[in-house]
Amino acid sequence: MARIGFIGLGNMGGPMAANLVRAGHAVLGFDTVPAAREAAAAAGVTIVALAAEAARDADAVITMLPSGPIVRAVYEAADGILPAARAGTLFIDCSTIDVDSARAAHAMAAGRGMLALDAPVSGGVGGASAGTLTFMVGGSAEAFERGEPLLAAMGRRIVHCGGAGAGQAAKICNNMILGISMIAVSEAFALADRLGLDRQKLFDVASTASGQCWSLTSYCPVPGPVPASPANHEYRPGFAAALMLKDLGLAMEAAAATGTETALGRHARDIYAAFAESGHGGEDFSAIFRAISAASKPA
Ligand code: NAD
Repeated sequence: MARIGFIGLGNMGGPMAANLVRAGHAVLGFDTVPAAREAAAAAGVTIVALAAEAARDADAVITMLPSGPIVRAVYEAADGILPAARAGTLFIDCSTIDVDSARAAHAMAAGRGMLALDAPVSGGVGGASAGTLTFMVGGSAEAFERGEPLLAAMGRRIVHCGGAGAGQAAKICNNMILGISMIAVSEAFALADRLGLDRQKLFDVASTASGQCWSLTSYCPVPGPVPASPANHEYRPGFAAALMLKDLGLAMEAAAATGTETALGRHARDIYAAFAESGHGGEDFSAIFRAISAASKPA
């Protein structure tokens, strides 16, 4: 069993670290927030006083942090995790961050003789707790081979997407589709309401016709057709609109950096930005239906 450092024990990292403990690994954890440390300790994580301490003598170090600049700082600061680890340690960053920072993290790790993977996840807090996350992984074949058994303790599906940054690239491309498609489905239901078309009838037709997509069939943004969707539970997340906005922002950064034309991605980002700014960032991202419906004339 491995000795694993885990940095960032928040909503996602806490339950992921707990699953590594459950799988029999020795997990040394660090977070800047006391409540996160206490919850992880209760799940069997050994809490240390500094990130560097979690990396010392570790076989692998996993980070689950809010942003690219934070990941870079935690990796490379004088009291960071890279300087503290022994050569050959595997660094796995599971945070959702910009592709440039992910590639920089790979380069920093390689510069110190470490192996590295970017391994962002989908599946949310529920998937993190149940150990059913999907990991989208970028890095060398050697790093992937070493990391896969650890990721398997926290997830169900692990896809090696390519070299450094490929995991982040897959994640933001997927979530750009998701953001756009959720708005498209919501607009269709708003229009159906005003045309006097029953919501269930639209669902019955579109879910088996060319309008079919995950936002409709698995995560329908209106109450009724898909009982498990957040629309039936006061739009509690799920996947918060603020996180969708973050991912669309990362997609737009990557589009700008690569000169990619993404008119709908940009529009979706702007729509979610307005939604979050008007106080709805904590609601599930499918609650965008309510904003679209409210902005339309009465049905
Ligand atoms: P969170 O804010 O709950 O957790 C982040 C943790 O990092 C916090 O506990 C914070 O205290 C800690 N942290 C911040 N700076 C630190 C530092 N310098 N050293 C140590 N700890 C530090 O966020 P989360 O929901 O767990 O998300 C983590 C990552 O996972 C993000 O990149 C997010 O985009 C991604 N993600 C989240 C979800 C979701 O549904 N919550 C889904 C997929 C991906």
